[in-house]
Amino acid sequence: MKRVYLDFAATTPIDSRVSKEMRDFELKYYGNPSSIHREGQSARAKIDFAREVIAKFINAKPQEIIFTSGATEANNLAIQGTVNRAILSGNSKPHVVTTLLEHQSVYNVVKELEKRGLIEATYIKPSKDGQIKASDVLKALQPNTVLVSIIFVSNEIGTILPIREIGKALAESKPGTRSPKPVFHVDAVQAAKFYNLNVEKLNCNLLTLSAHKLYGPKGIGALYIKSGTKLSNLIFGGSQEYGKRPGTQNTAGIIGFAKAVELLGSLEEREKFRKKLAKLRDQLIMGLQTIRNAELNGPAGDSRTADNANFTFYNVDQDALMTALDLAGIAASTGSACVSGSTEPSYVIESLGKISDRASATARFTLGKNTTVKDIKYVIMTVKEILTKLRNENEK
Ligand code: PMP
Repeated sequence: MKRVYLDFAATTPIDSRVSKEMRDFELKYYGNPSSIHREGQSARAKIDFAREVIAKFINAKPQEIIFTSGATEANNLAIQGTVNRAILSGNSKPHVVTTLLEHQSVYNVVKELEKRGLIEATYIKPSKDGQIKASDVLKALQPNTVLVSIIFVSNEIGTILPIREIGKALAESKPGTRSPKPVFHVDAVQAAKFYNLNVEKLNCNLLTLSAHKLYGPKGIGALYIKSGTKLSNLIFGGSQEYGKRPGTQNTAGIIGFAKAVELLGSLEEREKFRKKLAKLRDQLIMGLQTIRNAELNGPAGDSRTADNANFTFYNVDQDALMTALDLAGIAASTGSACVSGSTEPSYVIESLGKISDRASATARFTLGKNTTVKDIKYVIMTVKEILTKLRNENEK
């Protein structure tokens, strides 16, 4: 049976050109990049080049890019690193501002630090259509705020947050008794495919990326750390990654990450890709909106990312819907792949004032490079059929 993969926000299939580059690299450049012999130094030169590619992608300096095992680690380093640094500098109870739209690798870190009594935290609630304004962020600041951590594009409901406006507002805000200004961290994992991540324009200190959301390999990501931004380490060891992330680098992963970024192309090419997906997304949204008791989660139009359609279907069991979709050849998700299979309701969906329980199903469809009009038509037709069948069974 033909499969229709609509879970590109969970992960993208690796581009064959990326995997070839990684394979060739691994066979030829096996040296440890920290070794001083030729084998080591030639691997090091390749990593330096990859670092330049990724730095250029976000208009940063190469030494501002720290490779990590993925975005989860990068987000942990950003948050725990900033908080620990503040505590070590004498701030007895730092305050962190974040949102209810964050990925678990931000939200759960802040929750945990709060639970341990190390920080105070404010979680900004989005509007009903899943948006947050720069003024909401400014309002949440306190004299002891050390960190503002905001997602660029919601992995669940697809909101594009006004990161430039937030960055500008924070940069222009008067610290008052608060000094220095809070560190601004942006989780840009879902934004990198389409949007401009020029860190100067975003006015951020920290920015997270992950390769496997960009048709690159899994297990490699990066944290941009603006020069002068001080973070405590998460782990200790050797001097790799400027001493900020010790451990022998995932060299092939880094090479694949840079190749994937290179293949994203220019801003114009990304914009072309964005427009193509936005058209397909709108077809999907329009089709699914014709279903009885179906509600789009997140904003419509320009403030929604190009590849995301997230719906709540009322009067249907979540697991039954997901199983039926999979059996019909459709790979979708219940929200964030990281919570799929969990019985916990989604805090993101709940933050919109919606019920996230077993009597209603939330399905996220995320589109990618090989999604076609035919796929979209098939999904609309199949979801309609499945819902009719499952709801009839419910009502028996
Ligand atoms: N942040 C966002 C917005 C994500 O979508 C994801 C992946 N679902 C992550 C962080 C975590 O990325 P990784 O798998 O690289 O740890």
